[in-house]
Amino acid sequence: MFHKLLPALKTSCQRACLPLFMMGTLLYSGCTSDKNGDRVLFPIENDLELGNQVSQQVDSAYRAKGQLLDRNSRDPKIRAAYAHLDKIVARLLESGQVSYRDEFPWDVKIINDREVQNAFATPGGHIYVFTGLIKFLDSEDQLAGVLGHEIAHADQRHSIKQLQKQYGISFISRLVLGENAGQLERIIGGAAGQYLGLKFSRDYEREADDYSVLYLGATEYYACDGAAGFFQKMQTLQNNGQIPEFFSTHPAPANRIQEIQNQARQRGCKTATASNTGYQEFKRNLGL
Ligand SMILES: [Zn+2]
Repeated sequence: MFHKLLPALKTSCQRACLPLFMMGTLLYSGCTSDKNGDRVLFPIENDLELGNQVSQQVDSAYRAKGQLLDRNSRDPKIRAAYAHLDKIVARLLESGQVSYRDEFPWDVKIINDREVQNAFATPGGHIYVFTGLIKFLDSEDQLAGVLGHEIAHADQRHSIKQLQKQYGISFISRLVLGENAGQLERIIGGAAGQYLGLKFSRDYEREADDYSVLYLGATEYYACDGAAGFFQKMQTLQNNGQIPEFFSTHPAPANRIQEIQNQARQRGCKTATASNTGYQEFKRNLGL
Protein backbone atom coordinates (compact mmCIF):
# COMPACT_ATOMS: atom_id res chain seq x y z
CA MET A 1 0.00 0.00 0.00
CA PHE A 2 2.45 2.61 1.22
CA HIS A 3 5.46 1.43 -0.68
CA LYS A 4 4.51 2.96 -4.00
CA LEU A 5 4.34 6.60 -3.02
CA LEU A 6 7.63 7.48 -1.51
CA PRO A 7 10.22 8.81 -3.93
CA ALA A 8 10.51 12.03 -1.88
CA LEU A 9 11.18 10.10 1.29
CA LYS A 10 13.76 7.99 -0.46
CA THR A 11 15.68 11.07 -1.53
CA SER A 12 15.71 12.59 1.94
CA CYS A 13 16.75 9.23 3.35
CA GLN A 14 19.74 8.98 1.05
CA ARG A 15 20.84 12.45 2.08
CA ALA A 16 20.36 11.78 5.78
CA CYS A 17 22.14 8.47 5.68
CA LEU A 18 25.21 9.40 3.72
CA PRO A 19 27.41 9.98 6.79
CA LEU A 20 26.58 6.50 7.96
CA PHE A 21 27.89 5.00 4.75
CA MET A 22 31.09 6.90 5.38
CA MET A 23 31.44 5.20 8.72
CA GLY A 24 32.09 2.11 6.66
CA THR A 25 30.27 -0.32 8.89
CA LEU A 26 29.45 -3.45 6.98
CA LEU A 27 25.93 -3.68 8.29
CA TYR A 28 24.76 -0.46 6.73
CA SER A 29 24.53 -2.09 3.39
CA GLY A 30 21.68 0.08 2.25
CA CYS A 31 19.88 3.13 3.37
CA THR A 32 17.24 3.48 0.76
CA SER A 33 13.57 2.79 1.25
CA ASP A 34 12.73 -0.80 2.00
CA LYS A 35 9.90 -2.64 0.26
CA ASN A 36 7.39 -0.85 2.47
CA GLY A 37 8.79 2.51 1.44
CA ASP A 38 10.21 3.10 4.90
CA ARG A 39 13.57 4.44 5.88
CA VAL A 40 15.35 1.61 7.64
CA LEU A 41 19.11 1.55 8.11
CA PHE A 42 19.35 -2.20 8.28
CA PRO A 43 18.89 -4.66 5.45
CA ILE A 44 16.29 -7.40 5.86
CA GLU A 45 19.07 -9.94 6.43
CA ASN A 46 19.26 -8.39 9.89
CA ASP A 47 15.58 -9.08 10.53
CA LEU A 48 16.22 -12.66 9.43
CA GLU A 49 19.28 -13.04 11.64
CA LEU A 50 17.58 -11.57 14.70
CA GLY A 51 14.50 -13.66 13.99
CA ASN A 52 16.63 -16.81 13.89
CA GLN A 53 18.25 -15.96 17.20
CA VAL A 54 14.95 -15.14 18.88
CA SER A 55 13.08 -18.15 17.49
CA GLN A 56 15.86 -20.50 18.58
CA GLN A 57 15.63 -19.13 22.10
CA VAL A 58 11.84 -19.33 22.11
CA ASP A 59 11.87 -22.87 20.71
CA SER A 60 14.36 -24.16 23.24
CA ALA A 61 12.61 -22.46 26.17
CA TYR A 62 9.22 -23.98 25.32
CA ARG A 63 10.67 -27.31 24.22
CA ALA A 64 12.34 -27.61 27.63
CA LYS A 65 8.94 -27.11 29.22
CA GLY A 66 7.41 -29.70 26.91
CA GLN A 67 5.06 -27.08 25.49
CA LEU A 68 6.26 -26.73 21.91
CA LEU A 69 3.94 -28.86 19.80
CA ASP A 70 5.84 -30.83 17.16
CA ARG A 71 4.39 -30.35 13.68
CA ASN A 72 5.75 -33.78 12.77
CA SER A 73 4.10 -35.39 15.78
CA ARG A 74 3.01 -38.99 15.50
CA ASP A 75 -0.43 -37.83 16.64
CA PRO A 76 -2.49 -37.26 13.46
CA LYS A 77 -4.64 -34.72 15.29
CA ILE A 78 -1.66 -32.49 15.99
CA ARG A 79 -0.59 -32.78 12.36
CA ALA A 80 -4.14 -31.92 11.25
CA ALA A 81 -4.14 -28.89 13.56
CA TYR A 82 -0.88 -27.68 12.02
CA ALA A 83 -2.26 -28.21 8.51
CA HIS A 84 -5.23 -26.05 9.47
CA LEU A 85 -3.08 -23.28 10.94
CA ASP A 86 -0.73 -23.39 7.94
CA LYS A 87 -3.74 -22.93 5.67
CA ILE A 88 -4.83 -19.76 7.49
CA VAL A 89 -1.32 -18.29 7.32
CA ALA A 90 -0.95 -19.26 3.65
CA ARG A 91 -4.22 -17.51 2.78
CA LEU A 92 -2.98 -14.30 4.42
CA LEU A 93 0.38 -14.54 2.67
CA GLU A 94 -1.39 -15.08 -0.65
CA SER A 95 -3.38 -11.88 -0.16
CA GLY A 96 -0.86 -10.11 -2.37
CA GLN A 97 -0.30 -7.50 0.33
CA VAL A 98 2.67 -8.96 2.23
CA SER A 99 5.87 -7.23 1.10
CA TYR A 100 8.33 -9.90 2.32
CA ARG A 101 6.21 -12.94 1.52
CA ASP A 102 9.08 -14.62 -0.30
CA GLU A 103 11.98 -13.40 1.84
CA PHE A 104 10.74 -14.36 5.32
CA PRO A 105 10.13 -17.97 6.39
CA TRP A 106 6.64 -17.40 7.88
CA ASP A 107 6.72 -20.65 9.83
CA VAL A 108 4.08 -21.00 12.52
CA LYS A 109 4.35 -22.98 15.76
CA ILE A 110 1.86 -23.85 18.48
CA ILE A 111 2.78 -23.49 22.16
CA ASN A 112 0.63 -25.66 24.36
CA ASP A 113 -0.26 -23.40 27.26
CA ARG A 114 -3.98 -23.02 27.80
CA GLU A 115 -3.53 -20.21 30.29
CA VAL A 116 -1.96 -17.82 27.80
CA GLN A 117 -4.17 -15.96 25.34
CA ASN A 118 -1.43 -14.66 23.12
CA ALA A 119 0.29 -14.86 19.75
CA PHE A 120 3.42 -13.17 18.48
CA ALA A 121 5.78 -12.94 15.54
CA THR A 122 9.53 -12.48 15.80
CA PRO A 123 11.43 -10.17 13.45
CA GLY A 124 11.83 -11.93 10.12
CA GLY A 125 8.50 -13.73 10.40
CA HIS A 126 8.50 -16.69 12.82
CA ILE A 127 4.96 -16.89 14.21
CA TYR A 128 3.87 -18.45 17.51
CA VAL A 129 0.34 -19.10 18.76
CA PHE A 130 -0.62 -20.27 22.25
CA THR A 131 -3.36 -22.88 22.67
CA GLY A 132 -4.93 -20.56 25.27
CA LEU A 133 -5.68 -18.10 22.48
CA ILE A 134 -7.04 -20.72 20.09
CA LYS A 135 -9.31 -22.06 22.86
CA PHE A 136 -10.49 -18.61 23.89
CA LEU A 137 -11.45 -17.37 20.42
CA ASP A 138 -14.79 -18.25 18.82
CA SER A 139 -14.02 -18.13 15.14
CA GLU A 140 -11.40 -18.48 12.47
CA ASP A 141 -12.06 -14.85 11.49
CA GLN A 142 -10.81 -13.75 14.91
CA LEU A 143 -7.73 -15.96 14.76
CA ALA A 144 -6.97 -14.85 11.19
CA GLY A 145 -7.39 -11.25 12.42
CA VAL A 146 -4.73 -11.62 15.11
CA LEU A 147 -2.42 -13.59 12.80
CA GLY A 148 -2.77 -10.80 10.23
CA HIS A 149 -1.84 -8.30 12.93
CA GLU A 150 1.28 -10.30 13.85
CA ILE A 151 2.32 -10.86 10.25
CA ALA A 152 2.06 -7.10 9.73
CA HIS A 153 4.40 -6.39 12.68
CA ALA A 154 7.05 -8.62 11.08
CA ASP A 155 6.40 -7.55 7.48
CA GLN A 156 6.49 -3.85 8.37
CA ARG A 157 9.73 -4.54 10.29
CA HIS A 158 8.37 -2.98 13.47
CA SER A 159 10.82 -4.81 15.78
CA ILE A 160 13.96 -3.62 14.05
CA LYS A 161 12.59 -0.09 13.75
CA GLN A 162 11.63 -0.07 17.41
CA LEU A 163 15.07 -1.41 18.42
CA GLN A 164 16.70 1.24 16.25
CA LYS A 165 14.70 3.95 18.04
CA GLN A 166 15.01 2.57 21.56
CA TYR A 167 18.56 1.28 21.67
CA GLY A 168 20.39 2.87 18.74
CA ILE A 169 22.23 1.62 15.72
CA SER A 170 25.37 0.18 17.28
CA PHE A 171 23.27 -1.89 19.67
CA ILE A 172 21.53 -3.63 16.77
CA SER A 173 24.82 -4.15 14.98
CA ARG A 174 26.16 -6.00 18.02
CA LEU A 175 22.94 -7.99 18.36
CA VAL A 176 23.11 -9.13 14.78
CA LEU A 177 26.73 -10.13 15.18
CA GLY A 178 25.72 -12.23 18.18
CA GLU A 179 27.75 -10.08 20.59
CA ASN A 180 24.79 -9.06 22.68
CA ALA A 181 23.08 -12.36 23.37
CA GLY A 182 22.49 -11.57 27.04
CA GLN A 183 20.96 -8.23 26.14
CA LEU A 184 18.72 -9.85 23.57
CA GLU A 185 17.50 -12.29 26.21
CA ARG A 186 16.80 -9.45 28.56
CA ILE A 187 14.82 -7.53 25.93
CA ILE A 188 12.74 -10.44 24.79
CA GLY A 189 12.36 -11.94 28.24
CA GLY A 190 14.05 -15.16 27.12
CA ALA A 191 15.89 -15.51 30.41
CA ALA A 192 12.56 -16.07 32.12
CA GLY A 193 11.74 -18.75 29.57
CA GLN A 194 8.90 -16.72 28.22
CA TYR A 195 8.92 -14.52 25.18
CA LEU A 196 7.82 -11.04 26.07
CA GLY A 197 8.98 -9.20 23.02
CA LEU A 198 9.22 -5.53 22.42
CA LYS A 199 6.49 -3.20 23.38
CA PHE A 200 5.31 -1.65 20.16
CA SER A 201 4.34 1.98 19.80
CA ARG A 202 0.71 2.90 19.33
CA ASP A 203 1.41 3.95 15.75
CA TYR A 204 2.77 0.48 14.99
CA GLU A 205 -0.25 -1.10 16.66
CA ARG A 206 -2.63 0.95 14.52
CA GLU A 207 -0.61 0.10 11.43
CA ALA A 208 -0.71 -3.63 12.25
CA ASP A 209 -4.48 -3.41 12.75
CA ASP A 210 -4.93 -1.65 9.41
CA TYR A 211 -2.87 -4.27 7.61
CA SER A 212 -4.86 -7.04 9.27
CA VAL A 213 -8.01 -5.59 7.67
CA LEU A 214 -6.20 -5.28 4.35
CA TYR A 215 -4.88 -8.87 4.35
CA LEU A 216 -8.14 -10.47 5.47
CA GLY A 217 -10.21 -8.40 3.05
CA ALA A 218 -7.97 -9.49 0.18
CA THR A 219 -8.32 -13.22 0.95
CA GLU A 220 -12.09 -13.46 0.33
CA TYR A 221 -12.15 -16.17 3.01
CA TYR A 222 -12.50 -14.06 6.13
CA ALA A 223 -14.49 -11.24 7.62
CA CYS A 224 -11.95 -8.46 7.19
CA ASP A 225 -12.66 -7.01 10.66
CA GLY A 226 -11.70 -10.31 12.32
CA ALA A 227 -9.16 -8.43 14.47
CA ALA A 228 -12.02 -6.38 15.96
CA GLY A 229 -13.65 -9.63 17.11
CA PHE A 230 -10.34 -10.65 18.67
CA PHE A 231 -10.08 -7.34 20.58
CA GLN A 232 -13.70 -7.64 21.71
CA LYS A 233 -12.79 -11.01 23.24
CA MET A 234 -9.73 -9.48 24.90
CA GLN A 235 -11.96 -6.78 26.31
CA THR A 236 -14.16 -9.38 27.99
CA LEU A 237 -11.05 -10.64 29.80
CA GLN A 238 -10.27 -7.11 30.94
CA ASN A 239 -13.84 -6.60 32.09
CA ASN A 240 -13.38 -9.67 34.28
CA GLY A 241 -10.38 -8.02 35.91
CA GLN A 242 -7.70 -9.93 33.98
CA ILE A 243 -4.90 -8.30 32.03
CA PRO A 244 -4.49 -10.27 28.82
CA GLU A 245 -0.85 -11.04 28.15
CA PHE A 246 -1.29 -9.75 24.62
CA PHE A 247 -1.55 -6.22 25.99
CA SER A 248 1.82 -6.46 27.76
CA THR A 249 3.50 -6.10 24.37
CA HIS A 250 0.68 -4.64 22.28
CA PRO A 251 -0.63 -1.49 23.94
CA ALA A 252 -4.26 -0.90 23.11
CA PRO A 253 -4.90 2.44 21.45
CA ALA A 254 -8.22 3.98 22.33
CA ASN A 255 -11.16 3.08 20.10
CA ARG A 256 -9.20 0.27 18.50
CA ILE A 257 -12.23 -1.88 17.78
CA GLN A 258 -14.05 1.06 16.25
CA GLU A 259 -11.05 1.99 14.13
CA ILE A 260 -10.81 -1.52 12.71
CA GLN A 261 -14.50 -1.46 11.89
CA ASN A 262 -14.13 1.97 10.29
CA GLN A 263 -11.26 0.65 8.16
CA ALA A 264 -13.43 -2.27 7.07
CA ARG A 265 -16.27 0.10 6.15
CA GLN A 266 -13.94 2.37 4.18
CA ARG A 267 -12.51 -0.56 2.28
CA GLY A 268 -15.97 -2.00 1.70
CA CYS A 269 -14.73 -5.49 2.51
CA LYS A 270 -16.91 -8.31 3.75
CA THR A 271 -17.58 -8.39 7.50
CA ALA A 272 -20.07 -11.24 7.76
CA THR A 273 -18.83 -14.20 9.76
CA ALA A 274 -18.51 -17.38 7.79
CA SER A 275 -19.33 -20.85 9.08
CA ASN A 276 -17.06 -21.89 11.92
CA THR A 277 -17.35 -25.64 11.80
CA GLY A 278 -13.74 -25.89 10.61
CA TYR A 279 -12.56 -23.83 13.55
CA GLN A 280 -14.35 -26.05 16.06
CA GLU A 281 -12.73 -29.11 14.52
CA PHE A 282 -9.34 -27.33 14.72
CA LYS A 283 -9.93 -26.80 18.44
CA ARG A 284 -11.02 -30.41 18.96
CA ASN A 285 -7.85 -31.66 17.25
CA LEU A 286 -5.87 -29.76 19.87
CA GLY A 287 -8.07 -31.12 22.65
CA LEU A 288 -9.45 -27.63 23.38
ZN1 LIG B 1 0.55 -5.64 18.02
